[in-house]
Amino acid sequence: MINFNQPHLTGKEAHYMYEAVYTCKLSGNGTFTKRCQAWFEQRYGFRKTLLTSSGTDALEMCAMLCDLKPGDEVIVPSYTFVSTALAFLREGAKVVFADSMQRNPNIDAESLEALITPRTKVIVPVHYAGIACDMDAIMAVAKKHNLLVVEDAAQAIDSYYKSPITKNQYPMPLGGIGHMAAFSFHETKNITAGGEGGLLVVNDERFVRRAEIIWEKGTNRAEFFRGEVNKYGWVDLGSSFLPSEVNAAFLWAQLENLDMIQAKRKKLWETYLKRLKPLAEKGYFTLPDIPEYATNNAHMFYLVLPSLEKRTAFIKYLKDNGVGAVFHYLSLHSSEYYKNRHDGRELPNCDRYADCLVRLPLFYDLTQEQVHTICDLIHAYYQ
Ligand SMILES: *Cc1c(COP(=O)(O)O)cnc(C)c1O
Repeated sequence: MINFNQPHLTGKEAHYMYEAVYTCKLSGNGTFTKRCQAWFEQRYGFRKTLLTSSGTDALEMCAMLCDLKPGDEVIVPSYTFVSTALAFLREGAKVVFADSMQRNPNIDAESLEALITPRTKVIVPVHYAGIACDMDAIMAVAKKHNLLVVEDAAQAIDSYYKSPITKNQYPMPLGGIGHMAAFSFHETKNITAGGEGGLLVVNDERFVRRAEIIWEKGTNRAEFFRGEVNKYGWVDLGSSFLPSEVNAAFLWAQLENLDMIQAKRKKLWETYLKRLKPLAEKGYFTLPDIPEYATNNAHMFYLVLPSLEKRTAFIKYLKDNGVGAVFHYLSLHSSEYYKNRHDGRELPNCDRYADCLVRLPLFYDLTQEQVHTICDLIHAYYQ
């Protein structure tokens, strides 16, 4: 059986975790946490980063930082993971679901203007499969209407957006474009913090101080530890969003090897592309779409089949032949929890991806031979 996903160990995880246990303090914000955060800030130029216990936690911190009032509206794509919407709902906001683009599952920037009302406060683009949303268009709409942009970059580590308009512009790392962003280190993502983990990125200086306070249960403890204040106490809302040093130590072992992990994943991804292109050209399915302004971080290899029935049969065929292929999100606007709260607008592209998208196995320890085996099976299926 070729599993859909399998977490990768670089070999140093246990060593660093041992080090954390025996030489560091174990609670959050210790040596490994600071090392991981500094790594992200240096490599990607993020203004301020804070490790969290999950991507969901990082999104919840973003939602708190947006300081929403009851009735404020937040625009979220319907084709995403629950947490993207849930984080803002929990803050009392009204979630307004946007459709995906025709060409790929990312939020349709052209549909945004029609969704904006005087109550709109935030847009949350999700970089699906690590492929950039059309950030120039989204940032322009946000600027025009004075909105905040929170990037759900859960899948987007080490991926970039490069503006096609200003050719000289240096490619911008995803997570570094909006006012703030959330990454995930869940075991299904490119790198993991030992199963669960996340990162809050704050790019807008105005939110840095409050982010640290929210992270530390509403206290100004971070300032106290830096010697900026001589006592600390309760100054705002917050929660316990810090991961333990054990998780940060695990993550550090993965960060040290990120380039190697990315290179291998991209090679596997390229093999899928090369082998499956002839079938896509015959019209059996479409391949992942990477717009000219986006890079590929090989988070996911997906196919879009023509119908739900065809996808169901395809997944069953692969499963019967020992390959764990899976579908992805069900539209949030038609979920059991949200369908009666949704305003009734149809989101046809989102529904199509919910019905027709299938993800093939992609993880570091997958071999080229296994990718060929999967592709051979797919070729045989369409013979
Ligand atoms: C994985 C994921 C999340 C949630 O991250 P967790 O670390 O599992 O909490 C949120 N949004 C998207 C798009 C994701 O893929």
